[in-house]
Amino acid sequence: MEIMPYQSTKRIPRDKCGVFGIFGHPEAARLAYFGLYALQHRGQKSAGIVSHDGYRTWMHRGIGLVPVVFTEENLLYLKGSTALGHVLDSSGDIATVDVQPFTATHKGRAISVAHNGSITNIRELRQELQAQGAIFHSATDSEVVVHFLARCGDMGLDAALQTIFSKIKGAFSLLLLVDDTLVAVRDPRGFRPLCLGRLHDGGYVVASETCALDLVEAQYLRDIEPGEILLIDSNGLRSVSLERDHPRFCIFEQVYFARPDSNIFGINVYQSRKRMGEALADERRIDADLVMPFPDSGTCAALGYAQAAGIPFEMGIIRNHYIGRTFIQPTQSDRASAVRTKLNPVRSFLRGKRVIIVDDSAISGATVQSKMDALHEAGVKEVHLLVSCPPIQFPCAYGIHFPAMDRLLAHGKSIDQICKYLGLDSLHYLSLEGMTAAAGGGSNAYCKACMDGMYPLAIDPDME
Ligand code: SF4
Repeated sequence: MEIMPYQSTKRIPRDKCGVFGIFGHPEAARLAYFGLYALQHRGQKSAGIVSHDGYRTWMHRGIGLVPVVFTEENLLYLKGSTALGHVLDSSGDIATVDVQPFTATHKGRAISVAHNGSITNIRELRQELQAQGAIFHSATDSEVVVHFLARCGDMGLDAALQTIFSKIKGAFSLLLLVDDTLVAVRDPRGFRPLCLGRLHDGGYVVASETCALDLVEAQYLRDIEPGEILLIDSNGLRSVSLERDHPRFCIFEQVYFARPDSNIFGINVYQSRKRMGEALADERRIDADLVMPFPDSGTCAALGYAQAAGIPFEMGIIRNHYIGRTFIQPTQSDRASAVRTKLNPVRSFLRGKRVIIVDDSAISGATVQSKMDALHEAGVKEVHLLVSCPPIQFPCAYGIHFPAMDRLLAHGKSIDQICKYLGLDSLHYLSLEGMTAAAGGGSNAYCKACMDGMYPLAIDPDME
């Protein structure tokens, strides 16, 4: 196992995604649509579905939210009982060719790929393929899988996948459709989640989060294991193993990214976040009139804190649910106005009160500052900020995009400096120990690199 401190200040890719695959249902694409709807929080810039009817591959992809990209008409066009879907978010603009799933045909075999995460040796793999004459059509990591598969000759699919994914390093949960065989792959450390479910009428579903299984009424069977390649075809299920490594589940899935109604890495996210709030109450008690979240993602931890501390829980800020998560907005000015559009304090209620705000991550300096400005303008007497994870100080190399380092609230700043910057009466971040104990599963099971700067898997310092 490699653990190394953060060294590079160069840009690294910051995408985040959700994947959904379905095998053995006559309306596979329609169910994939609902699955992607459940996973919309994982990616809001593009969406795509590929289906296979036993003869042909059908595809529809586009820029925008799931209900913007798909209509009743184009869902009818996606024929077949097997389908693969993807939603994507990105720190940069998305070209149409980069919208996933990525699809190609080689010697009559249709191959489609969709992935969540990051391939950390992507530059080396691309160079190897280009030296052999490969021409790339997109900037997606997924495309290397298609090129390698095309080079496997007469090797059977199971052996070919084992060979390919032994070369590919990184943090990824990936789905492939090879003709009408659905393949699910999770990297050997299991950074990103991926789960398997069964439909009532016998088909199978694979998804980034269990909330997507719930929406299509699939029964959760199990997680895809770290280092497992699971193939689903007309003969049923079979698995091929990669060399396993020490698990490094992304703790940020528990803290912020996943939906509270999902079970991630075998642990319910709602309960995990409530425990993080309780752990905050163990670490820091404050005399205040009320506890409130920045809705929605801080809500579970705020509830946990309020119950543990015996302080009333209130919704002093009302969220407009019709815009996306604020820290993914592309420019500073957009972000500040997005905060105002999204969150509005209940001024007459908050005036003169001593307020504890519980936030799940307090990532972007500009975003948190806009929220605090709004509270001060509402006339609160005191503001105490509690954050249900340690300071986010480093970038993620493994599939979650954060703002650039210099825009992270906590990067290079002391607690006193942050308090002054935000006009806070006090500030406390949950300790690493408190966070991992609340998440469960043991501290060593998690990647915490964005908080402690210790990267469990080598990253290419020149990646952009
Ligand atoms: S660096 Fe942070 S966000 Fe990225 S995988 Fe590790 S814990 Fe998750």
